[in-house]
Amino acid sequence: MYDNSWFIDCHIHVSLNGINIKDWRRTLLEQNFKPISEILDQYKRRNVLIIRDGGDNQGATLAAREMAEQKGIIYKSPGWAIYKAGRYGGIIGRPVNDIRDFKDVFNELLKIKPDHLKVVLTGLVDFESYGEVGGISFSYEELYYIVQTAKEKELPVMVHVNSSEAVKMAVEAGVDTIEHGYFIEDEVLHMMAEREVIWVPTLAPLGNILEDEKLRHKYRNQLQNIERAYMRQLETVKRAYELGVKIAVGSDAGAVGVYHAQGFFDEVRHLKKCGIPEDQVLRMSSENGLKALNVGPSELKLLKKSIQQNNKEF
Ligand SMILES: [Zn+2]
Repeated sequence: MYDNSWFIDCHIHVSLNGINIKDWRRTLLEQNFKPISEILDQYKRRNVLIIRDGGDNQGATLAAREMAEQKGIIYKSPGWAIYKAGRYGGIIGRPVNDIRDFKDVFNELLKIKPDHLKVVLTGLVDFESYGEVGGISFSYEELYYIVQTAKEKELPVMVHVNSSEAVKMAVEAGVDTIEHGYFIEDEVLHMMAEREVIWVPTLAPLGNILEDEKLRHKYRNQLQNIERAYMRQLETVKRAYELGVKIAVGSDAGAVGVYHAQGFFDEVRHLKKCGIPEDQVLRMSSENGLKALNVGPSELKLLKKSIQQNNKEF
């Protein structure tokens, strides 16, 4: 069961800060990742003590994982994500052209002891054009091979994927978690429920834009598409909940308008808009979050111990 002494955000990007990607990434490199310490303190102050990152190509998430350990935060990092050369994914990952390439990149990855494998299967939700997500970048055979290779090393597979077709492919290939998953249709929701795939629907990146006057202005020309995609996602999440799909809370913190630590509570608020009661959102967040992040009983025990010690210090 959940208690309020710890929360899990299943999808964040410490390599982004919700404001300006370029500036933040440069600052991190110039200051040898030191600003990450303050970000982690923010998570700690809000009791978001278990975090999963989606990866980056500068080493920020690996630095974050080390710092987090000192602070008593469980921080799961994939190192960098894997994406198809020429497609979306440059900021969070390393490109692969084909399976031969993947084998090399994967061997490199194993050296830094990733907690999970992050694969980028499609692009982002396109604000310019409703329903567009940038196509599927790996073939089923490629994805299946990637997933099996990760499983041989006991690594859970986290997949950035939008569109019903691409989510279906990911589920069939045996991935563990579906990230974003905008525009999923009923048939695929049924599959997800059956196979107990965990879904992290990341409502906050769109929902937060819609709620913020400045961001509404910034995105004024795309606002209709953003609103439409967000409303559709609310409905799909509600349907998924009814069908028994395992939903987890992941904010995509670091995306524009989604700030670190606050993101978790934003995502909970958006999930409540789907008509799911708060206690159920928190229950799913905890149960499915622990499963998604592969947090074992011993890890959780250590965390609880460090929380108790902290409480004594205050
Ligand atoms: Zn993300």
